[in-house]
Amino acid sequence: MMKRQIAFFLLACSFAAAFLTGCAEKEQASGTSFHMDTFVSLRAYGDGARALIDACEKRLTELEKCLSATIEGSDVSRLNSANGEWISLGDDAFCVLKASLEAAELTDGAFDLTVAAAMKAWDGMSGETLPSEYELEKIRPLVDFREVELDEERKMARLGAGQSIDFGAIAKGYAADELNALYNEYGCTGIIDLGGSIYAVGAREGSEPWRIAVQDPRGDGYKETLELVSCAAVTSGDYQRFFERDGVRYHHIIDPKTLCPARSGIASVTVIGKNSMLADAYATAMFVMGAEKAVEFAEKNAVCALIIEDDGTEIWVNG
Ligand code: AMP
Ligand code: MG
Repeated sequence: MMKRQIAFFLLACSFAAAFLTGCAEKEQASGTSFHMDTFVSLRAYGDGARALIDACEKRLTELEKCLSATIEGSDVSRLNSANGEWISLGDDAFCVLKASLEAAELTDGAFDLTVAAAMKAWDGMSGETLPSEYELEKIRPLVDFREVELDEERKMARLGAGQSIDFGAIAKGYAADELNALYNEYGCTGIIDLGGSIYAVGAREGSEPWRIAVQDPRGDGYKETLELVSCAAVTSGDYQRFFERDGVRYHHIIDPKTLCPARSGIASVTVIGKNSMLADAYATAMFVMGAEKAVEFAEKNAVCALIIEDDGTEIWVNG
């Protein structure tokens, strides 16, 4: 079972309010599409909004072509099939790979892009396969971000032999940052919604914040409404992509230590900040860490986050 709904922004409310306060005079445009395995929804306000949406679509296609692990010839696919050889990377893939390794280091391996091998063993959490302990043990040596090497000068990278990587926990955050830069270039405001990665660009009208709702991970409603201006909110949760077998929920966030879906007592983590790529990486990592370590991590690194535990308890850090 796959459910790709992470946070909802209160679109109807913001649209209605925007019209009431005179936004109708401004050019506005929207676009929906499917990229990076998720539904993308873009809203833009300001002169050139239509052209901006088209430019965003073009940029998303470009990003997907280099960051996807399933598109043949992408930078990630070339790395994954290089069997330990050095590979030249484009600017986007290099930037995301570098940030991924830094995030892995900073989170003490809770974020680890080499969990791709484990995701494969779990058949992408399709529900088709429950890997045996023996199968997981066999791939254990492949899950270690420290085996990945970067050559900054030549913009090249190589994986350990047999390793593969997956930017699933960070690429949408990077894409949201890239689209935010385009919005700023065009001088437009609006909302970029890439599934779990949302960027609220500028303010809604005048200096009114955009209102972004954080989904109740155990229900259909919302837990909190965030008020954001020029800021990203990225959510990782166990309700986004999962299957159930014998009453157990198997979700898509892997604990690199166990190679199994993380059982940390957390249902979702939302990280709020200017850098959506880092927010994406940290949200995944904090989910894996569990509440106690996640709070410690957020305090130490000045990360603003909302943690929602299994029992619905909400913990705000730097909120
Ligand atoms: P997110 O929804 O941002 O938390 O990312 C989850 C996706 O990232 C999964 O579908 C996997 O492809 C990948 N992933 C799962 N666990 C991890 C992890 N601990 N570190 C890095 N990537 C992960
Ligand atoms: Mg993430």
